[in-house]
Amino acid sequence: MTGKRKRILTGDRPTGKLHLGHYVGTLNNRVKLQHEYDTFILIADIQALTTHYDRPGMIRQAVRDVTLDYLAVGIDPNVATICVQSLIPEIAELTVLYGLITNMNKLRHNPTTKAEAQQLGLIQGEDLMTGFDQLTYGFFGYPISQAADITFVNADLVPVGRDQMPHIELCRDIVKKFNGIFGTSIKEPEGLVGEAFLHALDGSAKMSKSLNNAIFLADEPAQIKAQVMKAVTDPARIHPTDPGTPEICNVYKYHQVFSKEIVEETAKKCRAGTIGCVACKKVLVKHLESLLTPFRELRKEFESKPDEVDEILIEGTKRARREGKKTLEHIRERMGTDYFGQKTSELLPVP
Ligand code: ATP
Ligand code: MG
Repeated sequence: MTGKRKRILTGDRPTGKLHLGHYVGTLNNRVKLQHEYDTFILIADIQALTTHYDRPGMIRQAVRDVTLDYLAVGIDPNVATICVQSLIPEIAELTVLYGLITNMNKLRHNPTTKAEAQQLGLIQGEDLMTGFDQLTYGFFGYPISQAADITFVNADLVPVGRDQMPHIELCRDIVKKFNGIFGTSIKEPEGLVGEAFLHALDGSAKMSKSLNNAIFLADEPAQIKAQVMKAVTDPARIHPTDPGTPEICNVYKYHQVFSKEIVEETAKKCRAGTIGCVACKKVLVKHLESLLTPFRELRKEFESKPDEVDEILIEGTKRARREGKKTLEHIRERMGTDYFGQKTSELLPVP
């Protein structure tokens, strides 16, 4: 972990176990890049509380689940730093500072926040202002806290799913403005979009931990099979021998991501009516099982060592705080809020 390597900051809301969408949207990029980049993975529990503030017990459990999922897919805690957002007060501090300079309309017109507010039934139509009686300040402003998450370690790269790109753009805007006003040298991070954005197998919405439509990385074979077998395929195909249109089939979309070796052949067979939907789904189940079985086994190993998992989070969070402290010292110095010189940091003890 040398200071010379470029940095990654990425993370997830602990609102449940991680699923296949996370894997192809960002986790596999993290696993690949962790040796090349100094990688920080943030469990964004405060951000989870922006929508689940009435369910703190669920978030407490999910912090553990998300950590196990990271370890299961091959995040190496000896290489990458896994840390907990609420235990890093420097992020909260930076959130307040960014809030000083972020215009309300930047938040109001953010397409990702809008889509999430719609999904949660908090607004009517497109305008976030229609939900101001329901929306909390924390939810409305969470892209600011996400900008603080990314920049408290001065990250260069942020591997995220496609839905998150508007937040990266906003983060870059905030940083540019902040640096311009205060003469700080915070990096403007780049987003790295994952190989696929996954919709649920019924085609209705994105696969999401909050929407009850996910195949979780920890799912047992029977659960994987049950989800795949109820997938919505080409509705025009009644009999297995009817010629199909793969482009409109949800199972085909999954084959494109998870069964690359046989995807063309499967499309041909579907068009010719020589493979039925049930057989095609069974092929997908097989491919998903061979991806997920080693993850599930490694997850179980870590599950049986809770103290080791605690230690990973404690050590990771300590390291992240040390980096956050450096960033905030630099900012305080440039903003002129280091009123007592060196002694300022004595007022702000960090372990
Ligand atoms: P929630 O519904 O609680 O917001 P989520 O499933 O959207 O949960 P997040 O924690 O918000 O998950 O997102 C974590 C990361 O996973 C982000 O980078 C996001 O872009 C990515 N991601 C989430 N869902 C998908 C998906 N279906 N396909 C690809 N990437 C995804
Ligand atoms: Mg989300």
